[in-house]
Amino acid sequence: MTTARRQTVFAGLDQPESWPPTPRAPRPERLDAALDTLPRVGPALKRKLAKLGLETVRDLLEHRPRRYEPAVPEVPIAALAGDEEVAIAGRVLNVSTRRRGRLTIVTARISDGTATVSASWFNQPWLADQLEPGVRVRLRGKPGPFGFDVRSYDVGEGEATADFAPVYPASEEISAQKLRALVAAALPRVDDVVDPLPAELRDRERLPLKRDALAAIHRPEDPDEAEIARRRLAFDELLLLQVGIARRAAERERSLAASLGEPGELVRRYRRALPFALTPYQERAIRELDADLARTVPMRRLLQGDVGSGKTVVALYALLRAVENGRQGALMAPTETLAEQHFLTIADLCLELGVTCALLTSSSRKRERETAAQADVVVGTHALIQEGVELRDLAVAVVDEQHRFGVEQRAALLQGRAPHVLHMTATPIPRTLALTVYGDLAVSEIARPPASRKPVVTRWIPEERASEAYTRLARLLREGRQAYVVCPLVEASETTLARAAEEEAERLRAHELRGFRVGCLHGRLKPAERRELMARFKARELDVLVATTVIEVGVDVPNATVMIVQEADRFGLAQLHQLRGRVGRGAEQSYCLLVSRAREELTETAQTRLQALCDESDGFKLAEIDLELRGGGALLGTRQSGVSDLRFARILHDRELLERARAAAREIGATPGPLLDEADALFAGVEPEALA
Ligand code: ADP
Ligand code: MG
Repeated sequence: MTTARRQTVFAGLDQPESWPPTPRAPRPERLDAALDTLPRVGPALKRKLAKLGLETVRDLLEHRPRRYEPAVPEVPIAALAGDEEVAIAGRVLNVSTRRRGRLTIVTARISDGTATVSASWFNQPWLADQLEPGVRVRLRGKPGPFGFDVRSYDVGEGEATADFAPVYPASEEISAQKLRALVAAALPRVDDVVDPLPAELRDRERLPLKRDALAAIHRPEDPDEAEIARRRLAFDELLLLQVGIARRAAERERSLAASLGEPGELVRRYRRALPFALTPYQERAIRELDADLARTVPMRRLLQGDVGSGKTVVALYALLRAVENGRQGALMAPTETLAEQHFLTIADLCLELGVTCALLTSSSRKRERETAAQADVVVGTHALIQEGVELRDLAVAVVDEQHRFGVEQRAALLQGRAPHVLHMTATPIPRTLALTVYGDLAVSEIARPPASRKPVVTRWIPEERASEAYTRLARLLREGRQAYVVCPLVEASETTLARAAEEEAERLRAHELRGFRVGCLHGRLKPAERRELMARFKARELDVLVATTVIEVGVDVPNATVMIVQEADRFGLAQLHQLRGRVGRGAEQSYCLLVSRAREELTETAQTRLQALCDESDGFKLAEIDLELRGGGALLGTRQSGVSDLRFARILHDRELLERARAAAREIGATPGPLLDEADALFAGVEPEALA
């Protein structure tokens, strides 16, 4: 075991030259060996491990403990009693292995001079070889039916590490205990880990060797050591990500776009046509993107602002900048409903300005598509625009991706062309995360919505009092307001969801909302039907829209001031915030009522989510809470390469580490070496544009 060496390293970060040499040449290829090369891992266990994402020895070594057991007191063996967890230390007298049905039990007699005890390990038969008579051990566990029931242990000389036993993310099929044993079996192989960091960088950043860090996260001497080790591994991750991003950014800088020069006549008319003055934030975003568009380097800018903050107005400005240069703009949305919404929002304005604007839908025929592809401004889903539609002369693309970053989609769209690209997101990304994901992407932020918006009063209501919510709703409807009722989110097909929504609408028409005009919006409606339904709702021919999450984004009806979300605990925080953004769009006070099962029946995170929504209207703060609850990878969706792979970095927490990694990445630049190879491997298959 590497304990003794590691100690030197961690204690002596100041004197790296004193680090002991590696006992033998590392053989990194051994880390890629499948897990059934470990003792006692057969096909069944191998399959279960694969479900946890653990396939190679390296995976196991890099399996981060979720937490560590707190320390327990060390007691003399003679004083063992009760069933509290304790630590004992002593020497092995003898060892034996026996079987009991499917159980293999290794038992060792341990003596510490005060008394002896039989310590038992379950299903770790390989331990018998390590527990030779005379070997020193330190064990953590408690008295049990087979003597001392060992939970974690150290074998051999060296400091105690069994105290802070790691607790791994486990599954139903594999216990945390089993994982601990497997990691222990894999741990000697850390000697095969080659350090990707140049020694000089490691010294300067005062980081321990990678193999020592890996050993230490599984067997820390104390929590501080575990944290030092985690930070080393997090540094590697962040550095790799930054090197990869920097390399892609450099490639991008070499591609060419058309300069769109200075703002012209068309956007001046556009400004005059708007029924309001732009806010200072919108003005600044426009200045920033105008500067980008004047260059021949393709723009890569993220426009970030809460729902309703007025991004669409800025997006259309960018599209018109293409049009006034005789070229074409495209607005891409993640869903068909949102694409239609965008189209409805901008079509009238475009008409007024004499700009042709077309919607590309999945139901458009080939000829319609070909015509649409000629329009000045084309609106459609990411998928549609990428699938074989030859746009006439794309110069500016606006990608409205909300919080779903479809890497492949963006990549495909931009193949072979270099348009200026403006990404819009309504999920404010905490700055650290934006840096991590987007690297050098420029960010424009609309930090405050137009003054007319009031925070939405949000209440969390248990199901048994749901009738009160509907009573309140009915009162507001009689006052002339309109409302949304959002149906529960279930893991089901669009068709099932649609049917459930229809049934719920029917039920509400018969009961809680009798006498009101109730429409139903779901993903199974034909585009024309959906458009008509939305138009009727907007025209106040309907009082209530019962809907699935298709209304999550883009729907804009200022007179709709109430939203009831059924089984709100099933939704994610960002999603609920998006949904809530459909109300509070006019001058009237708006309400969002989150209905869920009783508080006690919900998981702790579900409770935190719902409470956070009641307490907080700032999307930025909510995004941070979400990030804490779910981790960065989850927030961005699993497909975002690189970020979803972050295992050791804690994005909010490691801001300083991230800045250091960025600086190091700039320094390393394109110096060939194992680090660069790893960075390229990390981003293999991800188009450069996807990261831009
Ligand atoms: P987002 O796309 O950020 O969700 P929108 O651009 O859809 O926000 O704007 C939300 C609403 O606010 C729309 O009804 C829009 O017309 C209105 N709006 C946008 N900018 C302003 C402004 N500067 N002053 C007043 N209202 C505005
Ligand atoms: Mg919008």
